Amino acid sequence: MTLRLYNSLGRRIEDFEPATDNVVKLYSCGPTVYSFAHIGNLRAYTFADTLRRALLWKGWQVEHVINITDVGHAVAEAELGDDKIELAAARERRSVEEIAEMYTEAFFADLDALNILPAHHYPRATQYVDAMIVFAERLVDRGFAYEIPSGLYFDTSKDPGYGRLGLVDVGGQLEGARVEQVPGRRAKTDFALWRAEAPGQIRAMRWNSPWGWGAPGWHLECSVMSMKFLGEHFDIHTGGVDHRQLHHVNEIAQSEAYLGDGRPWVRFWLHGEFLQLGAAKMAKSAGPVLTVQELQKQGFHPLAYRMFLLGGHYRAQLEFTMDGLAAAQATLRRLIRRTAALGRLPSVGTLEEARALASDDSAAVAVIDQLDQAISADLNTPRVLAVLQESLRDAVLSEHGQRVVTAASGAVLGLPFDRLEPADVEPAAEQFSQSDQAIVDKLIAEREAARTARDWARADALRAELSELGVQLTDTPTGPVWSRTTS
Ligand code: AMP
Ligand code: ZN
Repeated sequence: MTLRLYNSLGRRIEDFEPATDNVVKLYSCGPTVYSFAHIGNLRAYTFADTLRRALLWKGWQVEHVINITDVGHAVAEAELGDDKIELAAARERRSVEEIAEMYTEAFFADLDALNILPAHHYPRATQYVDAMIVFAERLVDRGFAYEIPSGLYFDTSKDPGYGRLGLVDVGGQLEGARVEQVPGRRAKTDFALWRAEAPGQIRAMRWNSPWGWGAPGWHLECSVMSMKFLGEHFDIHTGGVDHRQLHHVNEIAQSEAYLGDGRPWVRFWLHGEFLQLGAAKMAKSAGPVLTVQELQKQGFHPLAYRMFLLGGHYRAQLEFTMDGLAAAQATLRRLIRRTAALGRLPSVGTLEEARALASDDSAAVAVIDQLDQAISADLNTPRVLAVLQESLRDAVLSEHGQRVVTAASGAVLGLPFDRLEPADVEPAAEQFSQSDQAIVDKLIAEREAARTARDWARADALRAELSELGVQLTDTPTGPVWSRTTS
């Protein structure tokens, strides 16, 4: 099967092959390291990892870059004002370096917990500012940039294709969404390449440039660091769907202006949909948010969260619920038990290896081909899971066949079934009966009403009552979520 992927550039499913050799060059927009990654952020990297595993499954090598944004991501969209890292440093009374270091390490720990393959390079933006300045100078030389008091700006009117990735209506939609005023900016779509210090301002992170002391713009860093590691043109660029409208639009505009060779800069753009917590979009800046660590505290294995994500297609929004997570953990538990009964799994990484191992077992080969079909159809992980579960049910396959199919699915899904023990994924507590559930729902609704009425004493009393029932509440920006307490 040919690997088929939905390319945001053109908005259609296309056949994928690497442009050169057998090596796929892959860049994923990385985290801004000003706080812990929430489980929504981690959906973006789990999706990139699924893509990487599918590419490996096809027998290609992959060179993967995930950048670390340790400077440049401003709070305001117009890129004026404070840098998120600087604000976090002030809030936590630490240096910007300490903040970046701490949250970068936490990010790596999250990736590890979710069994996400480490990238080959994790360039930090602060280490490439010189290269960003050189890049921006070329844009100035080519007439794509202009200087105003707040810095150097990219002139989007010079790019006739501007916005095509996001299908942005340059005259309307995007302008409407971005209301910040920047004195001297010629169009609201123009964006900062260099953010100059305001008179009297001295930033915590600052570099000298032809446009004065300041810091680079956020979009610039991804263009510069991706080209640095993957070459001027490369195969695939990924990110969350929020990047399709702005960040990636701007990356493309400046990169194609810089290259000036009339070719598309990157061939495939893949975007992962958001994880929803309640109805609202999760944002790291909107207060306390759910982290993998928090899920662990509540008795869940990190890979139960990965299993939860795999149950949805990456291009579909997914609503996070504790019940859904508990169900995913239960599925994982069943698969681990099953695997334990099968004994040692063979080592399988690619379709070819899986077919070779299954060679004298035509039923197993057929299942391997179904797995391949599913992952090749724009990374249909729910289908991969279904194929795996069906093939283990009713023992339609020989034990050897089951081992090969389980190992192959584990490789594609990033679930190391035989490295886990059933005890790792025991339920946090017994499931509630339906009547218990109704009582809990009622108490939570009453507590929400008390909170709305600012009757904190009653809200606390209701929380205590829930706690006696073995229910732990976590308040999130979009409302409370609850789980059973473990002891
Ligand atoms: P940031 O650290 O804010 O730069 O975001 C890191 C990545 O997380 C980006 O690729 C975002 O698109 C992605 N992202 C942010 N919120 C969510 C969410 N709720 N669900 C899925 N991805 C998200
Ligand atoms: Zn980026």
